[in-house]
Order: sequence, then C-alpha cells, then structure tokens
Amino acid sequence: MTTDPYAWIEQSLTTIHRADWYRSVQVLSDRPGATVVLAGQEVINFASNDYLGLAGDERLINAAIAAVSKFGTGSTGSRLLSGHRELHRELEIAIASLKQTEDAIVFSSGYLANLGAIAAVVGKRDLILSDQYNHSSLKNGAVLSGAAVIEYPHCDVLALKTQLQQQRQNYRRCLIITDSVFSMDGDLCPLPTLLQLAEEFNCMLLVDEAHATGVIGKTGAGCVEHFGCTGKQLIQIGTLSKALGSLGGYVAGSAALIDFLRNRAPTWIYTTGLSPADTAAALTAIGIVQQEPQRRIQLWRNVDDLKNLMQQQLPHLQLLPTESPILCFQLPSPADALQIGKHLKESGIFAPAIRPPTVPTSRIRISVMATHEMMHIEKLITVLKKQINA
Ligand SMILES: *Cc1c(COP(=O)(O)O)cnc(C)c1O
Repeated sequence: MTTDPYAWIEQSLTTIHRADWYRSVQVLSDRPGATVVLAGQEVINFASNDYLGLAGDERLINAAIAAVSKFGTGSTGSRLLSGHRELHRELEIAIASLKQTEDAIVFSSGYLANLGAIAAVVGKRDLILSDQYNHSSLKNGAVLSGAAVIEYPHCDVLALKTQLQQQRQNYRRCLIITDSVFSMDGDLCPLPTLLQLAEEFNCMLLVDEAHATGVIGKTGAGCVEHFGCTGKQLIQIGTLSKALGSLGGYVAGSAALIDFLRNRAPTWIYTTGLSPADTAAALTAIGIVQQEPQRRIQLWRNVDDLKNLMQQQLPHLQLLPTESPILCFQLPSPADALQIGKHLKESGIFAPAIRPPTVPTSRIRISVMATHEMMHIEKLITVLKKQINA
C-alpha cells in the first residue's frame, strides 16, 4: 500500500475546524479608514491597527507615489549591498528623534526586527525571560536565538524577580523581553519595575512598542515616554505598520547597539531593504505624529467615550483591563466569539473574534481610531446591546 506523506494536512485541518479554530481571510476593497467595505458591505472598522487613520492619508499616499517615481518599486537588494537609499537613513534618523535615542535601524517588518534583534543580542550561553502574553515575533525571536527561555506569568514582576534570583547566575547575558502594549489584551507592561529589575540583576530589557508608537506618550513616542523612562538604556522595538500606516519595523537604542545590529542581525543583513514607497510613507507619518498631537488627543477622547458608554450601558460585559485603544471582552468559547463576531458584521460592525491559540480565552477585540466619529461609537454600543441581550 502506498501512503501519502501529505495526508496529515487534511486531518489537521479537520481538527482545526472541529475546535472552531479555523481561520480564513476577508476581503477589504477600498482605502482603509473608520469605515471600510468588507466583502462588499460597508462596515464600521473596529478591526484596524491604523490608530491615527494615516494608512489612507493623502500625504502618505503622495509621498509613496513620489518615492516610487523617483526610486522605483523595489529596493533591489539587501541594505549592505544595493538596497540602501538616503531615504532609509532619513527614516532612521526620524525614528531616533521621535524615540529620543542615539540611533535606530529599519527592518522590513516588525516581526523581522524582533527576530533579528533578539537573535543578535543573546545566544546559547544566555537567558531570556519572556512575558507569557508576548507577541509571536518575540517568542520566535527567543527560539531563534538559541538562548534558554523562561516564560513568566503575565506582568508578574514578583515571579520574574524569583526567576532572576534563582537563574541569573547560571547564564552569561540575560534579556527580559516584553510587549509594551499587549496586542491581544490592551494592557501595559510594568515598565519602571522591569527596568529596576533589569538594573538590579544586570539584564538587558527589550520592549516592543508596536501598538504604542504614535499612540501613547505625550509626543507619541510610546510607553517608554508615558512611564518617564526616556533616555534609559533599553532595546526599543516597533513597527511602521500600525499607527504609522505603512510597512516595516525598527529597533531604536544606543549607537553601539544599532551599529552592532547592522553587523549581526540576520533578518536585516540577509533580506531586501524596505521598499521606497513604504519608507517614504513611514517618514511622512512620523512627521505627522510629531506635528499633529490633535490626532492622538482625538484618539484618546474616542477611547474614553467608548469606555464610558460601555460602563454605563453594558455593565455586564467582561471588559479586560486596558490602558490603550484596544478593548476586549471575553466570551465563554471560540464558538460564542465567532457567533458574536458574525452578528456584529451583519449589523455593520467589523470587530474580530480572537481565539486560541492566539490568546488563552476567546474574545471580541475592538480597536479605536482617531478618525472614528461619535456616531460610529454609538452604533457599536447599540449593536452590542442588542447582541448581548439577545
Ligand atoms: C504587529 C506586531 C508586531 C509585528 O509587526 P509587523 O510590522 O506587522 O511585522 C510585532 N510585535 C507586536 C507586539 C505586534 O503587535
């Protein structure tokens, strides 16, 4: 009898379906914004990471078009070979200025920035301590590095300290890694305490500001700014693809760190440089973040309005603790989450069900944008009230 070495794939898919874990893509067919056309239907968009509404902004679009006209579509090689343009350096300087760090380096995505930075700064003789709710790119960066990895319970600084007391002396270098805004929960890491522990136990600290850059802090520099930790020795990671409305990632930190990454980060050295369009769009976005604080102010006003309305009108909803524009409420099962998500969509609200294995418990995840209007938020509340009480 011949056997099919690929037969397991169909079986795995069946298992995924049975657990209500199956995922598929949905088509959005116009410019991103507070409302979008989803599978032919106009819906209010509570599913986007485009917190400031910049992904559809004319200025970013025009900057991208101008860059394509001038430099072409592809950057044609790795940054160390034929892929480097002055535009890349301008973007890196702009990021360093936003973050108030000595320097920055741009990667082709935030995912690659985490893989590359973590794998470059620690190795086999080292230890990584990782928050259990960290983003996949941090977890896989830890695996790629070859370091010993210990996960600590979410934001549990006492458990982290215990691990450091027991384990730190067995390793050469130690790196603590954490999201700053946890992407599927919306809460913040305890950054000042993490910094204290890093100092006390001679550890490096890497924070991923993917959902914080442009959103949190007085100038939009992120949680590091919000917690008054600007200027501290840190490895700051982020993405150009969320509030900055483009594509790409970065590391910001000391000049020595960035110089080292240019020589040792495999996901920077062995991949094609960021495209001219993405680079120019991100550069324009950073200018807007710095010059138009009113966008950030409006975003937070919208977050407060939504939270207040939820507390008043949907007091039974199990809202997870949040200090960001990400609001989640929990549901008993993946099937419940899918059902509510589907009903929301039918009622004109786009807010995804997030299920295991992405998160431990099923939930509906709502992300607020600066460009949402009061009527969008009120519609969300009306629809939720109908759904939850149904
Ligand atoms: C989105 C995200 C990333 C990945 O960024 P991309 O630029 O989309 O690859 C990394 N870390 C966190 C915490 C994120 O939320």
